[in-house]
Amino acid sequence: MEKNHGLLIVLSGPSGAGKGTICQELLRQMPDLRYSVSMTTRSPRPGEVEGIHYYFRPRQEFEAMLARNELLEWAEFCDNYYGTPLFAVEQAILDGRDVILEIDIQGAMQIKKRFPQGVFTFIIPPSLDVLSERIHKRGTETEEVIQKRLATAIQELEYVDEYDYVVINDEVLAAVEKLKSILVAEKCRVKRKPFVFKGEYK
Ligand code: 5GP
Repeated sequence: MEKNHGLLIVLSGPSGAGKGTICQELLRQMPDLRYSVSMTTRSPRPGEVEGIHYYFRPRQEFEAMLARNELLEWAEFCDNYYGTPLFAVEQAILDGRDVILEIDIQGAMQIKKRFPQGVFTFIIPPSLDVLSERIHKRGTETEEVIQKRLATAIQELEYVDEYDYVVINDEVLAAVEKLKSILVAEKCRVKRKPFVFKGEYK
Protein backbone atom coordinates (compact mmCIF):
# COMPACT_ATOMS: atom_id res chain seq x y z
CA MET A 1 0.00 0.00 0.00
CA GLU A 2 1.35 3.45 -0.91
CA LYS A 3 2.36 5.56 2.10
CA ASN A 4 0.30 8.61 3.03
CA HIS A 5 2.10 11.89 2.69
CA GLY A 6 2.49 14.03 5.80
CA LEU A 7 0.38 17.12 6.33
CA LEU A 8 1.71 20.61 5.73
CA ILE A 9 0.15 22.73 8.47
CA VAL A 10 0.36 26.47 8.04
CA LEU A 11 -0.32 28.57 11.11
CA SER A 12 -0.68 32.30 10.78
CA GLY A 13 -2.53 35.22 12.26
CA PRO A 14 -1.96 38.74 13.53
CA SER A 15 0.98 39.54 15.75
CA GLY A 16 -0.12 39.09 19.37
CA ALA A 17 -2.66 36.35 18.55
CA GLY A 18 -0.49 33.86 20.42
CA LYS A 19 0.46 31.56 17.53
CA GLY A 20 3.99 31.04 18.86
CA THR A 21 2.76 29.83 22.25
CA ILE A 22 0.18 27.56 20.64
CA CYS A 23 2.76 26.12 18.29
CA GLN A 24 5.20 25.36 21.13
CA GLU A 25 2.51 23.61 23.18
CA LEU A 26 1.35 21.60 20.16
CA LEU A 27 4.92 20.45 19.50
CA ARG A 28 5.28 19.48 23.14
CA GLN A 29 2.13 17.35 22.96
CA MET A 30 2.88 15.89 19.52
CA PRO A 31 6.59 14.98 19.48
CA ASP A 32 6.37 13.48 15.97
CA LEU A 33 5.32 16.79 14.51
CA ARG A 34 8.17 18.62 12.74
CA TYR A 35 8.62 22.36 13.10
CA SER A 36 9.92 24.01 9.97
CA VAL A 37 12.83 26.23 10.98
CA SER A 38 12.75 29.41 8.92
CA MET A 39 15.65 31.35 7.51
CA THR A 40 15.94 35.02 8.38
CA THR A 41 18.28 37.92 7.80
CA ARG A 42 17.46 39.50 11.16
CA SER A 43 19.89 39.20 14.08
CA PRO A 44 19.22 36.68 16.82
CA ARG A 45 17.44 37.94 19.94
CA PRO A 46 18.88 36.94 23.32
CA GLY A 47 18.15 33.26 23.89
CA GLU A 48 17.51 32.42 20.25
CA VAL A 49 19.52 29.48 18.98
CA GLU A 50 20.79 28.94 15.42
CA GLY A 51 18.98 26.00 13.81
CA ILE A 52 16.29 25.83 16.50
CA HIS A 53 14.53 29.17 16.34
CA TYR A 54 15.84 30.27 12.96
CA TYR A 55 18.70 29.86 10.55
CA PHE A 56 20.28 33.31 10.77
CA ARG A 57 21.86 34.18 7.44
CA PRO A 58 23.31 37.25 5.74
CA ARG A 59 21.13 38.95 3.16
CA GLN A 60 23.40 37.84 0.31
CA GLU A 61 23.02 34.18 1.19
CA PHE A 62 19.25 34.53 1.49
CA GLU A 63 19.07 36.17 -1.94
CA ALA A 64 21.22 33.43 -3.46
CA MET A 65 18.83 30.75 -2.12
CA LEU A 66 15.91 32.69 -3.48
CA ALA A 67 17.55 32.88 -6.91
CA ARG A 68 18.12 29.10 -6.84
CA ASN A 69 14.42 28.54 -6.02
CA GLU A 70 15.29 26.85 -2.74
CA LEU A 71 12.61 28.55 -0.66
CA LEU A 72 9.02 27.34 -0.48
CA GLU A 73 7.90 30.88 0.32
CA TRP A 74 9.39 34.09 1.62
CA ALA A 75 8.40 37.56 2.80
CA GLU A 76 9.94 40.84 3.81
CA PHE A 77 8.86 41.88 7.29
CA CYS A 78 10.18 45.00 9.06
CA ASP A 79 13.20 45.32 6.71
CA ASN A 80 14.26 41.70 7.05
CA TYR A 81 13.72 38.63 4.91
CA TYR A 82 12.06 35.51 6.24
CA GLY A 83 11.63 32.29 4.30
CA THR A 84 10.95 28.57 4.49
CA PRO A 85 13.74 26.32 3.15
CA LEU A 86 12.10 23.93 0.71
CA PHE A 87 14.28 20.86 1.10
CA ALA A 88 13.51 19.86 4.71
CA VAL A 89 9.77 20.42 4.35
CA GLU A 90 9.51 18.50 1.09
CA GLN A 91 11.53 15.54 2.38
CA ALA A 92 9.56 15.26 5.63
CA ILE A 93 6.21 15.32 3.86
CA LEU A 94 7.28 12.69 1.34
CA ASP A 95 8.44 10.55 4.27
CA GLY A 96 4.95 10.78 5.77
CA ARG A 97 5.80 13.26 8.52
CA ASP A 98 3.58 16.20 9.43
CA VAL A 99 5.25 19.59 9.30
CA ILE A 100 4.07 22.82 10.91
CA LEU A 101 5.00 26.27 9.65
CA GLU A 102 4.44 29.43 11.65
CA ILE A 103 4.63 32.16 9.05
CA ASP A 104 3.07 35.46 8.13
CA ILE A 105 0.05 35.87 5.85
CA GLN A 106 2.06 36.85 2.75
CA GLY A 107 4.01 33.59 3.00
CA ALA A 108 0.87 31.53 3.67
CA MET A 109 -0.76 32.90 0.51
CA GLN A 110 2.28 31.87 -1.57
CA ILE A 111 2.09 28.34 -0.19
CA LYS A 112 -1.63 28.16 -0.87
CA LYS A 113 -0.92 28.73 -4.58
CA ARG A 114 1.91 26.22 -4.68
CA PHE A 115 0.56 23.61 -2.29
CA PRO A 116 -3.24 23.97 -1.91
CA GLN A 117 -3.51 20.65 -0.06
CA GLY A 118 -1.87 22.32 2.97
CA VAL A 119 -3.95 22.83 6.10
CA PHE A 120 -4.31 26.59 6.47
CA THR A 121 -5.21 27.67 9.98
CA PHE A 122 -5.70 31.20 11.19
CA ILE A 123 -5.21 32.02 14.86
CA ILE A 124 -7.09 35.03 16.18
CA PRO A 125 -7.35 36.68 19.58
CA PRO A 126 -10.78 36.65 21.27
CA SER A 127 -11.13 40.41 20.76
CA LEU A 128 -9.17 43.48 19.73
CA ASP A 129 -9.14 44.59 23.38
CA VAL A 130 -7.40 41.36 24.36
CA LEU A 131 -4.95 41.77 21.48
CA SER A 132 -4.15 45.29 22.62
CA GLU A 133 -3.70 44.09 26.19
CA ARG A 134 -1.33 41.27 25.07
CA ILE A 135 0.84 43.58 22.98
CA HIS A 136 1.00 46.12 25.83
CA LYS A 137 1.91 43.37 28.32
CA ARG A 138 4.89 42.26 26.22
CA GLY A 139 6.29 45.69 26.99
CA THR A 140 8.72 45.53 24.09
CA GLU A 141 7.17 48.18 21.83
CA THR A 142 6.50 51.90 22.02
CA GLU A 143 2.91 53.14 22.01
CA GLU A 144 3.32 54.27 18.41
CA VAL A 145 4.48 50.82 17.30
CA ILE A 146 1.67 49.20 19.28
CA GLN A 147 -0.91 51.33 17.49
CA LYS A 148 0.67 50.40 14.15
CA ARG A 149 0.58 46.70 15.02
CA LEU A 150 -3.06 46.95 16.06
CA ALA A 151 -3.97 48.69 12.82
CA THR A 152 -2.11 45.98 10.89
CA ALA A 153 -3.89 43.29 12.91
CA ILE A 154 -7.29 44.72 11.95
CA GLN A 155 -6.29 44.62 8.26
CA GLU A 156 -4.92 41.10 8.63
CA LEU A 157 -8.16 39.82 10.14
CA GLU A 158 -9.69 40.32 6.70
CA TYR A 159 -7.61 37.40 5.44
CA VAL A 160 -9.48 34.89 7.54
CA ASP A 161 -11.61 33.87 4.53
CA GLU A 162 -8.49 32.62 2.76
CA TYR A 163 -7.94 29.96 5.43
CA ASP A 164 -9.52 26.53 5.97
CA TYR A 165 -9.86 26.87 9.73
CA VAL A 166 -9.96 29.59 12.34
CA VAL A 167 -9.04 29.03 15.97
CA ILE A 168 -9.87 31.67 18.55
CA ASN A 169 -7.11 31.76 21.11
CA ASP A 170 -8.83 32.62 24.38
CA GLU A 171 -7.03 29.86 26.27
CA VAL A 172 -3.88 28.15 24.99
CA LEU A 173 -4.71 24.55 25.95
CA ALA A 174 -8.22 24.82 24.52
CA ALA A 175 -6.83 26.27 21.28
CA VAL A 176 -4.29 23.41 21.09
CA GLU A 177 -7.09 20.85 21.54
CA LYS A 178 -8.93 22.41 18.61
CA LEU A 179 -5.80 22.24 16.45
CA LYS A 180 -5.30 18.59 17.33
CA SER A 181 -8.91 17.86 16.32
CA ILE A 182 -8.33 19.63 13.02
CA LEU A 183 -5.31 17.42 12.33
CA VAL A 184 -7.20 14.23 13.17
CA ALA A 185 -10.06 15.24 10.85
CA GLU A 186 -7.67 16.16 8.04
CA LYS A 187 -6.01 12.76 8.24
CA CYS A 188 -9.41 11.09 7.78
CA ARG A 189 -10.19 12.92 4.57
CA VAL A 190 -10.86 10.49 1.74
CA LYS A 191 -8.99 12.70 -0.70
CA ARG A 192 -5.79 12.26 1.31
CA LYS A 193 -5.84 8.48 0.94
CA PRO A 194 -3.57 7.51 -1.93
CA PHE A 195 -5.09 4.04 -2.39
CA VAL A 196 -8.35 2.80 -3.87
CA PHE A 197 -10.39 1.41 -1.00
CA LYS A 198 -12.12 -1.33 -3.01
CA GLY A 199 -8.87 -2.81 -4.25
CA GLU A 200 -6.78 -2.67 -1.11
CA TYR A 201 -9.15 -2.77 1.85
CA LYS A 202 -9.46 -6.33 3.09
P1 5GP B 1 9.94 37.58 14.37
O1 5GP B 1 11.01 38.51 13.84
O2 5GP B 1 9.10 38.24 15.42
O3 5GP B 1 10.52 36.24 14.81
O4 5GP B 1 8.96 37.23 13.15
C1 5GP B 1 8.30 38.24 12.45
C2 5GP B 1 7.19 37.64 11.56
O5 5GP B 1 7.75 36.81 10.56
C3 5GP B 1 6.17 36.76 12.31
O6 5GP B 1 4.87 37.09 11.86
C4 5GP B 1 6.52 35.36 11.89
O7 5GP B 1 5.40 34.47 11.90
C5 5GP B 1 6.99 35.60 10.47
N1 5GP B 1 7.84 34.54 9.95
C6 5GP B 1 8.74 33.79 10.61
N2 5GP B 1 9.32 32.92 9.77
C7 5GP B 1 8.76 33.11 8.55
C8 5GP B 1 8.95 32.49 7.28
O8 5GP B 1 9.72 31.57 7.07
N3 5GP B 1 8.20 32.99 6.26
C9 5GP B 1 7.31 34.01 6.42
N4 5GP B 1 6.61 34.39 5.36
N5 5GP B 1 7.11 34.61 7.60
C10 5GP B 1 7.83 34.17 8.66
